[in-house]
Amino acid sequence: MTDNILEQLNDSQREAVTYCGGASLVIAGAGSGKTRVLTYKIAYLLGQGFMPWNILALTFTNKAAREMKERIGALVGIEQARRLNMGTFHSVFSRILRTEAQAIGYSPNFTIYDQSDSRSLVKAIIKEMGLDEKVYKHTSVADRISMAKNRLMLPQAYASSRQTVSDDVARKMPAVKDIYLRYCDRCRQANAMDFDDLLVNTFVLFDRNEDIRRKYSERFGYVLVDEYQDTNYAQQAIVTQLTRDHQHICAVGDDAQSIYSFRGANIDNILNFTSSYDGARLFKLEQNYRSTQFIVQAANSLIKHNSRQIPKDTFSRNEQGEKLVLKPAYSDKEEALIVCNDIKRIRREERCEYSDFAILYRTNSQSRSFEECMRKMNIPYHIYGGMSFYQRKEIKDVIAYFRVVVNPDDEEALRRIINYPSRGIGDTTLGRIVAAATLNGVSLWTVICSPVAYGLDVNKGTIGKLGKFRDLVMGWGERANTDDAYTIGRDIISDSGVSCDIYSGRDPEDIARQENLEEFLSGMQDFVESRREEGMEEHVALADFLQEVSLLTDLDSDTEVDSPKVSLMTVHSAKGLEFPTVFIVGLEENIFPSPMCTSSMRELEEERRLLYVAVTRAEKHCILTCAQNRFRYGRMEYDTPSRFLRDFDPSLIRMDNGSPEASFQAHGSAGWKTYESSGSRFVNSKPVATQFKADLKMPHVERLKPASSFGKTVQPTASFTNSSGSSSMVSSHELCEGSMIEHQRFGMGEVLRIEGVGENMKATVNFRNAGTKQLLLKFAKYKVI
Ligand code: ATP
Ligand code: MG
Repeated sequence: MTDNILEQLNDSQREAVTYCGGASLVIAGAGSGKTRVLTYKIAYLLGQGFMPWNILALTFTNKAAREMKERIGALVGIEQARRLNMGTFHSVFSRILRTEAQAIGYSPNFTIYDQSDSRSLVKAIIKEMGLDEKVYKHTSVADRISMAKNRLMLPQAYASSRQTVSDDVARKMPAVKDIYLRYCDRCRQANAMDFDDLLVNTFVLFDRNEDIRRKYSERFGYVLVDEYQDTNYAQQAIVTQLTRDHQHICAVGDDAQSIYSFRGANIDNILNFTSSYDGARLFKLEQNYRSTQFIVQAANSLIKHNSRQIPKDTFSRNEQGEKLVLKPAYSDKEEALIVCNDIKRIRREERCEYSDFAILYRTNSQSRSFEECMRKMNIPYHIYGGMSFYQRKEIKDVIAYFRVVVNPDDEEALRRIINYPSRGIGDTTLGRIVAAATLNGVSLWTVICSPVAYGLDVNKGTIGKLGKFRDLVMGWGERANTDDAYTIGRDIISDSGVSCDIYSGRDPEDIARQENLEEFLSGMQDFVESRREEGMEEHVALADFLQEVSLLTDLDSDTEVDSPKVSLMTVHSAKGLEFPTVFIVGLEENIFPSPMCTSSMRELEEERRLLYVAVTRAEKHCILTCAQNRFRYGRMEYDTPSRFLRDFDPSLIRMDNGSPEASFQAHGSAGWKTYESSGSRFVNSKPVATQFKADLKMPHVERLKPASSFGKTVQPTASFTNSSGSSSMVSSHELCEGSMIEHQRFGMGEVLRIEGVGENMKATVNFRNAGTKQLLLKFAKYKVI
């Protein structure tokens, strides 16, 4: 089997895969098979006798981890792949921290604060300390704290560092060090960690507990890291703690794709790898397998304008392909129409799926015009990121309730719900609770539980109200140990009064909130069922659900995509992905480069790398668009094409603005460049609405099936069933290898294998769109067709 696997690699890739003599670093351009090397290396290690649970693979997004697991599953079988330790830094480390929480003074049910929680805590502290909120902007203070943590600088070190202190003074914020200290204390009292703490605390855990460090270093006998260029100092330090004994580390990355310096990633990390690991081997891969020759050459011509980079010579032996196409539009509306029409045309001509297309933009807010157009033109799409579903107010409120039930010390969640819906515990009372808690160095919850003992200065009536609230929370807390997440979650929403509040209004906004809440409950139900179905656990607790949602970052807020859809996302979230056709939209001066990132060469180079990442996602077609007029900030604004357009070798770009004789000039400091023009589909100043009339059908409204309706348990849809319980059950004997089934969530699939008997009967099914999955039949919902 190993030989078979190795045959699917080129010589340099094979060398990198089979080298196990010590630390190794693979530096290579986009699409040259870095992720493939990691995937195959894991398969190779398994072939060499490594146990799957002794391998740790760290990826940048949950989606990347899922994809890698699937690919390894295809090489070595999903049973093996499932046992690997694989995930993002944050998810892997948060699991370790839950297991080892006691060693660093936390309890295992700690809450994970998201960005808005930590910002609101910083804001509260600034207020309490009586600092001027105009000078101490809570977002910039929170950013400074985050930066310090990513450099593993704890409050004491921060306060005694000459550099940070003088920096804070220069920013007129000398008290940041005090805010930082108080912030850490408050997180601890709340038994909460923010995203950065997941790194800092893991580092501290290993640093202060040699036995624990050694245990994990032995457990993770081989560590593999993808997208190494975007790891920050803290992440690298932890990887070093885990690997310095055995030196079994393989990291892959591309300095030209480093796009996270704003979060503390540092290109130097990649350059310093060889000094951290004595005798580390460096591998280079040069052949790009993803893209056509023209796309690779165009991307190279762009990135060579950056001064700081490791020299690489990437080439493609795929077909030459077509040039990049530049399509200037008259307006943002027209830009969307151009893109949508192209999607329809290419899909028709090349008989491909909607999932073969991606629209990449610089910022999330650009998605709106495309969304609108796609709905009109009946094009199914999926937006990754953006205003995450879990950031909406009604959802955050409900999650705050769940958080308090799992961890009543959670200050941010408690503040959010203590008087929502209104129960007569106002700001004054809350202020007094905070004061008593701060004075005694305990959590707000501790004060609420014993108000008299902590000298809480409120009247009898208020004490009574607090007592009622406490009983409510404690009652749920007891049930949370036995009931499944969905059942208790549903009851919390109704018993707390949140449902009454949300279902009282009838205006469109209220309806949207109700729909969101129902969607949320369906999601919970789905989570519980799929955990059971995949045989993970029978009791799916509220804490499991919280763990899942609290790590959904805005890069990752994708749900399973079950039918082919066009992907819309920012370039940042497209890292590591590939699509046959890529549209890079909004290539204008005020968008890409981002106007916030044009003041220094360093920032501009990062923006250029970002565009390099975008171009190199494309396999066959890379289409660039820009609009002359764009509706922004409530009015039409004029914009010029992006300066980066002039960086491309002009012989690799074809201009298509609808007029055969038109030429297009891209602005740039080295003068003007004229691109060759061809095509005749759009005339710049003519709106194109008429030609699309035929395409404008009924809006495509994408709605989740109402799997649950609020306030009552809804049984799974009648036509789908599982093999236990229901009267219309499909007996699992009907099912045999080769059967075709339609699964409620994963769609059509072929049964590859059936194993086990009775309760433990499992089927391995290859789904047309969702890949191969293993289902525990007693929970699976499907029908045989
Ligand atoms: P990025 O820098 O964008 O993350 P990468 O270097 O990780 O890219 P991969 O995603 O591993 O590149 O590979 C790009 C594409 O090329 C994938 O579809 C992969 O399967 C394919 N590929 C890589 N190497 C080979 C090979 N030796 N034979 C066939 N296909 C290959
Ligand atoms: Mg990759």
